[in-house]
Amino acid sequence: MTLSERDKKHLWHPLTQHKINPDHLAIASAKGAVFTDEKGKDYVDGIASWYTSMYGHCNPYITARMKDQLERLDHVIFSGLTHEPAVKLSELLVEILPEGQEKLFFSDNGSTSVEVAIKMSLQYHFNRGEHRNTIVAFDNGFHGDTFGAMSVSGLSVYNGPFEDFFLRVERIPVPDGRNNEAVIDRFKAFLSSGKVASFIFEPLVQGAAGMKMYDAAPLEQLMEIASAHGVLNIADEVMTGFGKTGTLFASDQLRIKPDMICLSKALTAGMLPMAATSCTKEVYNAFLSDDLGKGFFHGHTYTANPLACAAAIAGIELLRSEDMQENISRIRSLHRDFEARISPSPLVKNTRRLGVIFAFELDIEMERYGNLRQKLYDHFMAHGAFLRPLGNTIYILAPYVTTNEQMEVLYSAIEAVLDKGGAL
Ligand SMILES: *Cc1c(COP(=O)(O)O)cnc(C)c1O
Repeated sequence: MTLSERDKKHLWHPLTQHKINPDHLAIASAKGAVFTDEKGKDYVDGIASWYTSMYGHCNPYITARMKDQLERLDHVIFSGLTHEPAVKLSELLVEILPEGQEKLFFSDNGSTSVEVAIKMSLQYHFNRGEHRNTIVAFDNGFHGDTFGAMSVSGLSVYNGPFEDFFLRVERIPVPDGRNNEAVIDRFKAFLSSGKVASFIFEPLVQGAAGMKMYDAAPLEQLMEIASAHGVLNIADEVMTGFGKTGTLFASDQLRIKPDMICLSKALTAGMLPMAATSCTKEVYNAFLSDDLGKGFFHGHTYTANPLACAAAIAGIELLRSEDMQENISRIRSLHRDFEARISPSPLVKNTRRLGVIFAFELDIEMERYGNLRQKLYDHFMAHGAFLRPLGNTIYILAPYVTTNEQMEVLYSAIEAVLDKGGAL
């Protein structure tokens, strides 16, 4: 029996309708920007395995540090105890995070980093004697799959069965240049109730919505208004963090700095599950009290796992290296050339770039082509390009270490779709 056949016996995969998609490709190994299936076929990981493995799979600089850590200290409880990897990681993160982020709360994944931020924002006001029970979020945002994170997510396809159990959330459209004033008015109207605890957003680009990009200026305006109303700004940088937008964090491109930032995905360079929620001293101070109950009673068993911390520290060192920064600019300029190359095609609509993110819409009526997404996916896989279209949006977010030749595998797989007039 092949691995793929054995997989079907007991496994239930994430985000999968098993009746329609029963098959899962078995991956045997990965190195740099490439993973290899059990039959020996290579694929360029064009989305860095959901934006995690940005410095390449099995990066020896990182695995050596993890091995070293593994022989020194595996895991201990993080209540009452602390350790060098966690302390060092906190120092590094505060050094590179946007101004004002002073305190770090570790958890396990993007959803929990959001969950923690939401709970902190609610308790922040509670501790100060204010009852604020509403969160404002953008339409079509994505913040994760646990209940709090799901509540603030505006992508509704998966949320149906759970909507009765959601937190109280008000939504505003993403400012697109034409609607800015209407969005701001709507935001102000919600805030005037005095019930809004926090405003959560994916800064500059909404990932799961299809790499939808928007301007810094109207977001800064919203953040300023939020601050004036005592509302905490939460930047969900789970996707955008660690260099993807061309700066270390997307919030670096904002004039107004958030009160809290959610991090995961590339935090551990794709090695282990880990997340962090950072906040300002002001947020943290609202939890300091002689009253035990004003503390933040939230925690996960594997908090600040030393191996994950070691991977994160090594990853951040790589990110800040000249080499990696050069890789980032190299990929940006490759994207620029590719955009010019495909823009004349009548099938290419709304090309957009931010840092190492490139996206466009395939101008094809989805309905007419039935399961276009599946056909595109199969076409890309046949070409050795691991790309996962979001609806008719095709995007690339490859590891920084992807070579020019490997980038060309992704580009030419996309061009082949255009050459065939989209008829796959
Ligand atoms: C992926 C993602 C999450 C959820 O992270 P998980 O680790 O999958 O729980 C939250 N917010 C954003 C912006 C994401 O891209």
